[in-house]
Amino acid sequence: MGFKGEPTGKHGHTDIVRNPEFQAFLSACKPMMASDGDVRVQIVRRFQPYERNLTLHPDYLVAIDGSPYVSEVDRRFPSTQVLYVKVASVKLDLARLNTLRESKARYIDPYEINRIEQAATALSFWFNGANLVPEGASTPKAGFRMMLRRQFASEQSRIGGQRFLIDTLYDACRLRQGFEGIPGNDRDKLNYDEKTRSLIVRRCANLGCEAALEGIFVPRTIESVPCPACGEPIYATDVLRLDEAFQEYQDNEGVLTRIRTTLEHLLALHYLLYVHEAEPSAIHNIGIVMDGALAIFGESAKFHRALMAMHKIGMDDCGSARRPMPVLFGIQKSGEVLDFANLLDAQQAAEDCIPNGSFLFVDDDLRYRYVSPRPEAYRNAVYGDETYYGQDVIVKTHAGRIFVLNLAYTCGNKAGGEFSRRGDPLCYPALQRALSTVEAVESGLYSGSSIPQQLAHKYASISHVPGGKVLDILAKQAIKGR
Ligand SMILES: [Zn+2]
Repeated sequence: MGFKGEPTGKHGHTDIVRNPEFQAFLSACKPMMASDGDVRVQIVRRFQPYERNLTLHPDYLVAIDGSPYVSEVDRRFPSTQVLYVKVASVKLDLARLNTLRESKARYIDPYEINRIEQAATALSFWFNGANLVPEGASTPKAGFRMMLRRQFASEQSRIGGQRFLIDTLYDACRLRQGFEGIPGNDRDKLNYDEKTRSLIVRRCANLGCEAALEGIFVPRTIESVPCPACGEPIYATDVLRLDEAFQEYQDNEGVLTRIRTTLEHLLALHYLLYVHEAEPSAIHNIGIVMDGALAIFGESAKFHRALMAMHKIGMDDCGSARRPMPVLFGIQKSGEVLDFANLLDAQQAAEDCIPNGSFLFVDDDLRYRYVSPRPEAYRNAVYGDETYYGQDVIVKTHAGRIFVLNLAYTCGNKAGGEFSRRGDPLCYPALQRALSTVEAVESGLYSGSSIPQQLAHKYASISHVPGGKVLDILAKQAIKGR
């Protein structure tokens, strides 16, 4: 995702402001809730101080950020599109970054930043969009599903010898159901068969069939199995349900956004599983930072539980090796919580501001009262129950910058009592390490963002000239040339 800061028109509203009818309307309105300075002060007082300690963070940090791009081959109806997603991961040497910081410069030179990059890789995924049918498929949507499965098994997705992204999808299904506490007799919810190590697909995704299935087993090594009802292929990647919003003849930008977030989080899981298999407790020294909240929205949302389960496994790995706890969080560059934090802090006398070097956990009570208010009757619902695997924390760094972190839950699943204490900072043994990481990577280059985000975005970015244009030209030439 890109950064804010585009200028907007400033004078478009002046004629409304001068309109006497508008002024009469405004003076007749009463605020529902008085802007209550006392409430603001009470909330600011709840911020807890922390020490700036640059020795606690992991030595390495991996930042993951994806960027979607739609190439319009033909704008006329029916829309003809090629879809691209690039997900970059950048590994940063935080120890080296600390050495640079000793120069006491307020801004870190971007050229210096280049030197602290250990490795940057980007996975590029591409799919046919509307009105394009790849060879071997019958419709655009069938082609999209086929491409999704192929991209998951592509050579670029292989890490550590034999782990492809498709393996991580199988593990995601296994982890999700293992930690969700789905009883064995609730067969409809199971997506993974331990005995045959197969995925279980329960709905045919082929247009015109969409049969509810007894449960089709798709083994890891087979690209597709035929649907018993229609004979068309069923893919393991169908469990992601990303095809459901796919448009045969219209714009697919919405689908692409869903693909981007799903891929970002599955890639994080991909790395976590790889480290777990190679050297389990090594994860204590490799922090992972995601762009945005630790949450998966849309049709693939249920896979957030796999990440939650995996983080708990990482904690157990580090615990049994007597290592510090692993660091996993997202940084949110926009949204209600950041708006709320900025409002708390804005235009106050210095002594009334959020103190530098402090944090606040945004528990559901605070959220439903002030951040995204709900009527009392609806405040019992767990925020993000179907989507989130992390807890929002507002942080004001010692340098005075505000960040909204989303810190990975530590309980592995949402079934037990531990989950009900997710708003308690004491439940997060990696909290101080995460704060230390934020202090190490904060940057003044863009407000609300940090060095790893900027870097990951740089590598992920395909939506700007010339990268995007090149893709446009390629797509047009290839399709016209046939
Ligand atoms: Zn079928």
